[in-house]
Amino acid sequence: KDLLDRFKHGLAKTARLFDVRSWFGRKVDQDFLDELEAKLIRADVGVKATQILIDRVREAYADKTADEDLLAFLKAEMKALLQDPQAGALAKAPTNPTVILIAGVNGSGKTTSIAKLAQRLKDQGNSILLGACDTFRAAAADQLAIWAERSGADMVRGNAGADPASVAHDACDRALARKVDYLIVDTAGRLHTQTHLMRELEKVRGIISRKIEGAPHESLLVLDATNGQNAIQQARIFSKSIACSGVILTKLDGTAKGGVVVAVRQQTDLPVKFVGVGEGIDDLQPFDPDAFVESLFS
Ligand code: GDP
Repeated sequence: KDLLDRFKHGLAKTARLFDVRSWFGRKVDQDFLDELEAKLIRADVGVKATQILIDRVREAYADKTADEDLLAFLKAEMKALLQDPQAGALAKAPTNPTVILIAGVNGSGKTTSIAKLAQRLKDQGNSILLGACDTFRAAAADQLAIWAERSGADMVRGNAGADPASVAHDACDRALARKVDYLIVDTAGRLHTQTHLMRELEKVRGIISRKIEGAPHESLLVLDATNGQNAIQQARIFSKSIACSGVILTKLDGTAKGGVVVAVRQQTDLPVKFVGVGEGIDDLQPFDPDAFVESLFS
């Protein structure tokens, strides 16, 4: 199945919630705007972005009749909120390796996303080294190792409980020695020990930036779309310690409300770079705001 189809499938529930055909022919009065507002909130668009969208619709369409034009207007406004030159993009360092640091709380889909991203880059002809710096969860490193072996990617890992910073150090050394195209670094995600976790992340990031010029070139935060507004709260916490450059939003195929993409963009100011649309190794898609908004209302 085509990835875009799966993307659309995942958003079908949100599209049904909007039920745009039922708007047409109605007068754009306060009732109409209240209903639209409630739908946007229920779709996880978030209070701030919803307010912006409702204000724009009110300005442009008050007392007019809702029609295809209004829908096109709303889509354009939503696309504008999501627009970012970095959406769907991935940095490439002028000289190898490009280092991608991946963070996120356990259960967000971090391990799966790393495997998917590595597979994607591998399929594009790149050499990949994985740095398993989540030394606390042996299972996560085991899972990554299985994938790495299957696809022929190289991996650096420490013993259980090893210092994550020392694993990062070794991974950087090997990435430099072998001149790999991409070094993807996994990190721990135990949010219940927040202060410790953030300090550890800062340390890993610090090592990477000292070992490799300009690195990490991307610091991507993995967020579970089904967590709605909680995902945004997590983004704020992580942004404080690792200066995130973008988001991988997972599980958009599941029970997630699609509007959360808009909320993440609006409330964190981070570009959405990739979206997860399934559990399979190929189910990671560069985020395309236009295709996304079209799917949301179709
Ligand atoms: P981690 O604890 O953050 O490393 O999370 P995992 O990568 O182990 O993923 C947790 C669960 O979420 C697993 O069952 C994954 O298969 C599932 N998962 C990850 N990404 C997606 C996605 O995009 N869609 C769906 N439906 N499931 C996902």
